Amino acid sequence: MPATVLITGASRGIGAAAARLFAQRGWQVAINYHQSEEAARTLAASHKNIFAVQADVADRRQVNHMVEEALCQLGHIDVLINNAGIARQALFTDVTEAEWDRMFSVNVKGVYHCCQAVLPGMIRRQKGKIINLSSIWGMTGASCEVPYSASKAAVIGLTKALAKEVGPSGITVNCVAPGVIDTDMNAALCEEAREALREETPLGVLGRPEDVASLLYFLADSQADFITGQVISPNGGFLIV
Ligand code: NAD
Repeated sequence: MPATVLITGASRGIGAAAARLFAQRGWQVAINYHQSEEAARTLAASHKNIFAVQADVADRRQVNHMVEEALCQLGHIDVLINNAGIARQALFTDVTEAEWDRMFSVNVKGVYHCCQAVLPGMIRRQKGKIINLSSIWGMTGASCEVPYSASKAAVIGLTKALAKEVGPSGITVNCVAPGVIDTDMNAALCEEAREALREETPLGVLGRPEDVASLLYFLADSQADFITGQVISPNGGFLIV
């Protein structure tokens, strides 16, 4: 039986790079998208083992439907990658309650919804892996990104607690906390800001989505069976703890 993975927010960026890598390695891959149907369908059309499933991860009903659809396509879910996320830069004093709530609905509640939807099947099979995307900003905090930093810190807490709770069921839960990765999420950065970030990074480059995808693949694979509750940060040395 081929291994299976559900990746949220996978129509572009890190999620899409991961989907391509898993598909190339022979996995059956369900990619979730929210609004970018065309990009998701194009990615799915490029690999016979990638399927697209729509849902806003902030909406429990849509997530439950997405997982049902993924199960129809895949039969079971070995690995869930909670990759969908949003970021926004603003002065903390300007952040509206609606913006705060949306950040937490997508970045934290989305992880809660997806984990709750896939866990019954994993517990039944006494096997499974969950990988949550946090960020270095969830570890160190970023000025003008207070809601994002707080939401990504929450993902770390969720990961550690859930790892303890479901470990006895043979399920691992880990967190990947990337540094600055060159995706649409950072498209608004001007060249000056990008150069400053490169200079601050010991390896002297921004990360590529593929740099994160390879770590996601390692954590999803059986090589990582004894790793759980950990936060691993591909960041070029930008943050060394
Ligand atoms: P991205 O903006 O390219 O991708 C995010 C994806 O999430 C998009 O496909 C988007 O459509 C999807 N998404 C957003 N809201 C959604 C929702 N409600 N339901 C379903 N999907 C939704 O950014 P990326 O860099 O590929 O980010 C992927 C993950 O990595 C995010 O969780 C992000 O916070 C995290 N991350 C990114 C960086 C970076 O520098 N790019 C650094 C650290 C962590």
